[in-house]
Amino acid sequence: MDPVTQLRTRIETRALLLTTAAVPLTGWAVHATALHRRLAATKRDPLTGLLRRDAYTHRARRLLARHGDNTVVAMVDADKFKAINDSLGHAAGDSVLAAFGARLAAWAGPAAAVGRLGGDEFALVLELPAARRVQRLEQLVRMLHTSVVLDDGRTVDVAASVGVATPAAVASRDLSVLQRAADTALYEGKHSGRAVFATAAHASVPSVNGRRAGRPGTASWGRAA
Ligand code: GH3
Ligand code: MG
Repeated sequence: MDPVTQLRTRIETRALLLTTAAVPLTGWAVHATALHRRLAATKRDPLTGLLRRDAYTHRARRLLARHGDNTVVAMVDADKFKAINDSLGHAAGDSVLAAFGARLAAWAGPAAAVGRLGGDEFALVLELPAARRVQRLEQLVRMLHTSVVLDDGRTVDVAASVGVATPAAVASRDLSVLQRAADTALYEGKHSGRAVFATAAHASVPSVNGRRAGRPGTASWGRAA
């Protein structure tokens, strides 16, 4: 065989080997990407795009461990949401929940854990140094009280209640304890248009009908009702 034919044969053999290897590799890559997408989808609530409870909890715990006292836990529940469903329809209610999800995600930023715990209830964990907390939480309350414009042009007046817990104020870095305290603070300030900051006492309030009973005398701020 002359040197030119020899070289061509070698190149063709190598090309064939590469092609036969690439086919299963490409197939595997497509399969892996589809699997990854499906896994990511199971972590997210399809209506809002926020994390479901398990994925949220996992991420929230990691953030608490990493940022300690600079972490804030916030619980959010839409106000009079049933009335929106009843007066404008379930689809309008869905749009409001989706808008809340987008607002919470935008407010908290990509590093935060933002979850929809169910119905009209959301939870957030993020790094937020003490010096910026009041101003940032005022901003959150304002965002959640901004009307939602539906696809058909109708405008829906919305509101939400916010309870906030920090490791220093609640004397715990345990996510469940912080969420319980924030939830109690939320229900204490329900429909007030103000975010309520929890103290250690909020973590030990017994639940009433599955809900935490609020306690008077806590600091609050935000938009007036
Ligand atoms: P409150 O002001 O005290 O928070 O009362 P609320 O009317 O907001 O009602 P509540 O928080 O007790 O209940 C939430 C309601 O949200 C109950 C249910 O009808 C409705 N809901 C739950 N999931 C969905 C959903 O995916 N889409 C819509 N449109 N409604 C939902
Ligand atoms: Mg509600």
